[in-house]
Amino acid sequence: MVDLVSQYEKIKPQVQSSINNILEKAQFINGPDVHSFKSELATYLGAKHVVPCANGTDALQIAMMALGLKPGDEVITPSYTYIATTEVMGLLRLKPVFVDCEKDTFNISPKAIEAAITARTKAIVPVHLYGQSCDMEAIMKIAEKYDLKVIEDNAQAIGSDYTFSDGTVKKTGTIGDVGCTSFFPSKNLGCYGDGGAMCTNNDAVAEKLAMVANHGQSKRYYHDMVGCNSRLDSIQAAVLRIKLRLLDEYIDARRAAADYYDNAFADVEGLTIPHRIENSKHVFHQYTLQLDDHIDRDALVAYLGENDIPAMIYYPVPAHQQKMFASLETSSGSLENTDWLTTRVFSLPMHTELEKEQLDFICSTVKKFIEG
Ligand SMILES: *Cc1c(COP(=O)(O)O)cnc(C)c1O
Repeated sequence: MVDLVSQYEKIKPQVQSSINNILEKAQFINGPDVHSFKSELATYLGAKHVVPCANGTDALQIAMMALGLKPGDEVITPSYTYIATTEVMGLLRLKPVFVDCEKDTFNISPKAIEAAITARTKAIVPVHLYGQSCDMEAIMKIAEKYDLKVIEDNAQAIGSDYTFSDGTVKKTGTIGDVGCTSFFPSKNLGCYGDGGAMCTNNDAVAEKLAMVANHGQSKRYYHDMVGCNSRLDSIQAAVLRIKLRLLDEYIDARRAAADYYDNAFADVEGLTIPHRIENSKHVFHQYTLQLDDHIDRDALVAYLGENDIPAMIYYPVPAHQQKMFASLETSSGSLENTDWLTTRVFSLPMHTELEKEQLDFICSTVKKFIEG
């Protein structure tokens, strides 16, 4: 699904010298690379503050804690997402209220959000799934109307943007109260281990995020609240500084591969290519197709496997059907699109190193299965 080895080959000398430098100075925690990366990422995103942490799951948890969400508070979120988004709600004893997504974009439906609001609703957590922005204009309007916090799960969409109807362009993750992202190796901006970050434009929120991530500490050894220990280490920050400079190139490579797939599959009966909205730049963390009901998905994935083509199902079980939430009354309204998509989607290899011959082979193999 990804080719991190070929990508590494191209940046090997820089990476090795950066890491060596850290080893020789033994600045493993909070070294200069962490501070530089913080400001470089803030500049890239156009956000006032970046607070790094240990992974994307922690980023979501820390954001929910820093914004003061309390046990029993309802948080509206899509069911069609990676489990991390909703798992942290369970951990903090918040009540995830799962709503449906839109079938064409896979992203949370603003209409479903508004229909799910109750007196106990405190926040919305939209997920920019597969690399394209949610309908943030509609979501921010709802948040304002009902006085709700917005935490963007930007783990799959770093570098994407969103254009508002007045022409304002913002990077995803910088629109709500806090944006959370992950630097898991296979993410669009990935390190060589685990990493994550939060960003915000609010000074007080930034301070709170940093405090929660560092044992609730305001001053060394003075702990004002219960927090956690979540850090981005210096080696990961050094790798990320190198890869951040290449992020737009990486995104272009992903978009080129997506264009190639789109062209090959646009007219294939039974296959729906990913829908791109006009006002967001799709950064293609995943290239995810929908199969019509008459095509056997398991057989297709098996056939691709026999031809050494990896294909994945993101995600086979939606959050509202996971056993971890079995004891909670968590859904609101119909989850019809979510339930349908989990049986019908599949994702093809998507990364920065896809060659034309590989793409040709993947496309012709998929077509051979479907068209016979
Ligand atoms: C990867 C991912 C996360 C979690 O990130 P980790 O760094 O693996 O903890 C959260 N949400 C979404 C949508 C993701 O894809």
